[in-house]
Amino acid sequence: MEFSLIARHFTRAAPGAVLGVGDDCALLAPTPGMQLAVSTDMLLEGRHFAPQDSPAGLGHKALAVNLSDLAAMGATPRWATLAIALPTEDDAWLTAFTRGFFRVAEQYGIELVGGDTTRGPLTLSVTVIGEVPPGEALRRDGARPGDDVWVSGVIGSAAAALAYRQGRLFMEQVDAARVLPALYLPTPRVELGLALRGLASAAIDISDGLLGDLGHILERSGVGATIEFAALPVLPVLHKYLHEDVARECVLAGGDDYELCFTAPAARRDAVLAAAQQSGVAATRIGRITAEAGLGVLDSDGKPMQIDKTGYDHFAA
Ligand code: ADP
Ligand code: MG
Repeated sequence: MEFSLIARHFTRAAPGAVLGVGDDCALLAPTPGMQLAVSTDMLLEGRHFAPQDSPAGLGHKALAVNLSDLAAMGATPRWATLAIALPTEDDAWLTAFTRGFFRVAEQYGIELVGGDTTRGPLTLSVTVIGEVPPGEALRRDGARPGDDVWVSGVIGSAAAALAYRQGRLFMEQVDAARVLPALYLPTPRVELGLALRGLASAAIDISDGLLGDLGHILERSGVGATIEFAALPVLPVLHKYLHEDVARECVLAGGDDYELCFTAPAARRDAVLAAAQQSGVAATRIGRITAEAGLGVLDSDGKPMQIDKTGYDHFAA
């Protein structure tokens, strides 16, 4: 693509880089002694977003979902690259897209230092680079029997918004308006991830649904867990739809919320709550890590709910 398009839309000052956009490579000087945390996430039209979605929202989401991976690792965001395929050179679209992208970038102190721009079906691929002190990253393999299982914020909102948009979940319009921002404007829990360094034994961000993502922690840690459905934090407007299978499925196995699911020793409960409060987000204890493998979900009577290993089957009445 034309260099002027890159200059117009993607070139910003990057004082945290030795050299940013404009040369063959960016040059980065990591803070001495820090480890780099690197992650890439792609968004494809038709799979992760719809053609009519707002470009500013897409700019926000493309970066936010990547920042969420840094958050889940307890890494400080530093630099990003953006590979973008565009069907046409649409200046208005790009102006809106970069407005959303750079607003999030400024908020979390991450700098765009390079990328690639090409013609093709709309595709967004962001790579983020963060820093973490050696040994302090929040990995998936550190959960131990007896640890508490926690989630940040509320879950199920993004999946409920998608189900509403697809006509699979009926909601009153005022209620739908409360869940839709979770789908279009996710908040990466960067501050919480940082505050959980040295506190959480394992962490993951919930991109594919609570059961599946917690399952990754269990598998990597060689443990199991029991969680309580009634303890799961859900927006009040979603509560009144939980008698519907689809809504319960959104909470247990819906994706796209980008909240953190993490484990911590039971002795650190107060410290976890203080870390969450300091980060401006709720943290809710939803269950416990067990020595026996497997993930069980208990209903409000303490009876096991029917769950299959892909996340969700259907629930016993
Ligand atoms: P090259 O042919 O060497 O790959 P490009 O013309 O693709 O160079 O890119 C020129 C410069 O612009 C490079 O520094 C590259 O990192 C940057 N760049 C290209 N596209 C983007 C983008 N979408 N976002 C940020 N930087 C970009
Ligand atoms: Mg290139």
